[in-house]
Amino acid sequence: MARIILNAAFVATVNADRDEFAAGHLVVDGSRIAAVGPGPAPATPGPAARVIDAGGCLATPGFVNTHHHLYQWVTRGLATDQNLFGWLTALYPIWAGLDPEIVRAAATAGLAALARSGCSTTMDHHYVFPAGGGDVLAATVAAARDVGLRFHPTRGSMDLGASAGGLPPDEIVEDTDEILAATEQAIARYHDPSAGSMLRLAVAPTSPFSVTERLMRDAAELARAHDVRLHTHLAETVEEVDFCAEQFGCTPAEYAESLGWLGPDVWMAHCVHLDDAGVARFAASGTGVAHCPSSNARLGAGIARTRALIDAGVPTGLGVDGAASNEASSLLDEARHAVLFARAAGGPAALSPRQALELATIGGARVLGREDEIGSLEAGKLADIALWRMDTAAHAGIADPVAGLVLGPPPPLEFLLVNGQVLVESGRVVTIDEEHAGRAAAAASARLVGRGR
Ligand code: ZN
Repeated sequence: MARIILNAAFVATVNADRDEFAAGHLVVDGSRIAAVGPGPAPATPGPAARVIDAGGCLATPGFVNTHHHLYQWVTRGLATDQNLFGWLTALYPIWAGLDPEIVRAAATAGLAALARSGCSTTMDHHYVFPAGGGDVLAATVAAARDVGLRFHPTRGSMDLGASAGGLPPDEIVEDTDEILAATEQAIARYHDPSAGSMLRLAVAPTSPFSVTERLMRDAAELARAHDVRLHTHLAETVEEVDFCAEQFGCTPAEYAESLGWLGPDVWMAHCVHLDDAGVARFAASGTGVAHCPSSNARLGAGIARTRALIDAGVPTGLGVDGAASNEASSLLDEARHAVLFARAAGGPAALSPRQALELATIGGARVLGREDEIGSLEAGKLADIALWRMDTAAHAGIADPVAGLVLGPPPPLEFLLVNGQVLVESGRVVTIDEEHAGRAAAAASARLVGRGR
């Protein structure tokens, strides 16, 4: 069993007491944290350890990304001046050309970028399954195994095409029964409920304007029969609120509730336009929120009410959202933007750097139902650890390392451990050839975007 000892780091545990140690230690045995505390690691019998002098570094839990579309990595920089519906309408025909090779290249590059931003666990919401397009879900799972992140893919879906009043063109929606069968197969093939799992699947019809009511209801029933989680987009834009009012005569939150889509096993992306009653419904039911400030700003959708969500007790994490609406795809960016946008909307007390770190770590873990295993640095938890170098010229002298991480320039990532394995060392992803991944993603992008025009 490999043992790694980190000494002399500023340790922000994000545990229940929010303990921080100015010069603390972390001991990793195999896939789990064996010890964390102040001062150097005590000498204990056991296997020979790799001892890392982490002086000048800040140790945080690895970040947890609660909303993403990895395939979008190869459609970045398109439709840059559109709102959500205009942006989707421009991109749907391009995404119709997805195949497993393109998706694997996109996911590999996207996962590497997440790792470089301190992210150790990510979900992926894949919802475009072109007819005859091959097993694109398998491609994302293979990419996650290559890069080494803890992975929560979802089997997304769309069955409400334009001819039936939906937004997506008919060519990229699927038959409802085929979706349900494919989703059940995906659960059987991939979902690993065991302790320490590196792969857990969830069920994720895409959004109210691309999915029928029947699929929403049946997907919830299917997920609950197999004890897996549920995810969708909700209340992202004013246009979606209008769509729900016209089509269903209610708010997005009321619509979700009417379909059995509120509960502690559900989390929703965005929730920018939840009213007070919607926030209360989420809180009372334990429904989680993936807050995606950069994507919401990129598409001009608005600023989610993070202060109200947190005050109400809604489980809230951060998400980068797909790279086509957030070209940076950095979870550290999301923490920074969560603070800045909340304050721009609600004043200087709206969100603190430490609250943003909580959203990025234990908050996201709670949203994914993994708060007992990840999201904080505690003995017994899984060894998902980010070690940030805070002593370069860009950060040296910042009084508070947590404020420096969240508000300052992105610091070099010295190490990222996932399940006790080194994924990033000295800012480089060590599990894959990053240059090759970049070239493969560029080639895939050229092929896909050319195909869609
Ligand atoms: Zn999304």
